[in-house]
Amino acid sequence: MARQKGLTLKILVGLLAGLVTGIILYNIPTNYVTDTILINGVFLVVGQLFLRAIMMMVVPLVFISIVNGASSMGDVKKLGRIGLKTLVFYLITTAVAISIAISIAYVVNPGVGLDMSKVVTSEPTIGESIPLAQVIIDIIPSNPINAMAAGNMLQVIAFALFIGIGLSALGEKTKDVANMFEQLNELMMKLVSYVMEIAPYGVFCLIATTFSTLGFEAMVPLLKYMMTVIVALIFHAVVTYGGILKIFTGLSPLRFFKKFLPATSVAFSTASSGATLPITIETIEEEIGVSKNIASFTLPLGATINMDGTAIMQGVATVFISQVYGIDLGFSAILTVIITATLASIGTAGVPGVGLIMLSMVLQSVGLPIEGVALIMGIDRLLDMSRTAVNITGDAVCTTVIAKTEGEFNEEIFNSDSENALN
Ligand code: ASP
Repeated sequence: MARQKGLTLKILVGLLAGLVTGIILYNIPTNYVTDTILINGVFLVVGQLFLRAIMMMVVPLVFISIVNGASSMGDVKKLGRIGLKTLVFYLITTAVAISIAISIAYVVNPGVGLDMSKVVTSEPTIGESIPLAQVIIDIIPSNPINAMAAGNMLQVIAFALFIGIGLSALGEKTKDVANMFEQLNELMMKLVSYVMEIAPYGVFCLIATTFSTLGFEAMVPLLKYMMTVIVALIFHAVVTYGGILKIFTGLSPLRFFKKFLPATSVAFSTASSGATLPITIETIEEEIGVSKNIASFTLPLGATINMDGTAIMQGVATVFISQVYGIDLGFSAILTVIITATLASIGTAGVPGVGLIMLSMVLQSVGLPIEGVALIMGIDRLLDMSRTAVNITGDAVCTTVIAKTEGEFNEEIFNSDSENALN
């Protein structure tokens, strides 16, 4: 795909420039130009246009790509094997992620000695978390059109899987329909490549807007908590993902992370795995070298059910809240947290802030006060952005491992320095 030269670099520059601009805007007195023309004018419009342009593609892309992936898999057995492998991989990495988070949290003790009066609390408006049984029942849509309209990804995936499996079973008979889905997939990827062209500007505007309103003073008393989450996120990305890549695929983790940067940057800017999905798919196919068959199946699934970064935040937050409230978590409570958070990630939608809502379910599972969520609510945005970047990196690493073990990986693409690369 012919991309603009140095797109990755441009996106990165957009991100950093947005960060600096946002922080400057936050620190200077507001006036007509900064407030009306920039923050609530140009930045808002361009940022939201970009965000909507990618979100516009999510439902059709997930539907089309899963139908396509499932139907081109050839037989149901292969699909089942890959599906199972993916699921196991996603669940295990999430459990590892939260275990790392809890361990690091117990080394740092972010909530010990915290002066509660210094913590700026926001009003706890905690949303309802859904019980696991309902999450499972809800996988099958009673009305697939409703599911698409509501953007319920698990349901869209389930419906698409049925169609894909049906198409592959019918083979020659429905060749035209299968071809149509293939062409629709091409079309969607073309649209994604258009949006990628404006990504540097979109990312700049989104980041500038976010940072111009982030209350940095509120972060100070919670800095220890924030740093613990960030250290755990980095540790998981470097050690767990880096190790998995090296061991299972032999690929260079550094090269992988570098080539995946456009997607990571968009995830950071949007704080939504779901919204980033079109970019994630494009990057993993065009830059990393995973086949369409695998990527179109495992990535939408990952963006919906695999949330390692979110689990890390929940692990640290649980320890933090227990320490602030002076409640000791025993071993069995910690185990409960690991299991609950791992399963909760299946029901966590890939949109901004949902991880925090699901945290209330994790806290409840071990009898911690859910009001604790209010302590960290005000400063969650920055962590949301960071954990979303890790969430989609986890999807990408798993996808690459599956592709490699299934012989669906093009090493030439991975090793080539595309025009777009960060050299
Ligand atoms: N924003 C995260 C995501 O989209 C979910 C969360 O942790 O709130 O992956």
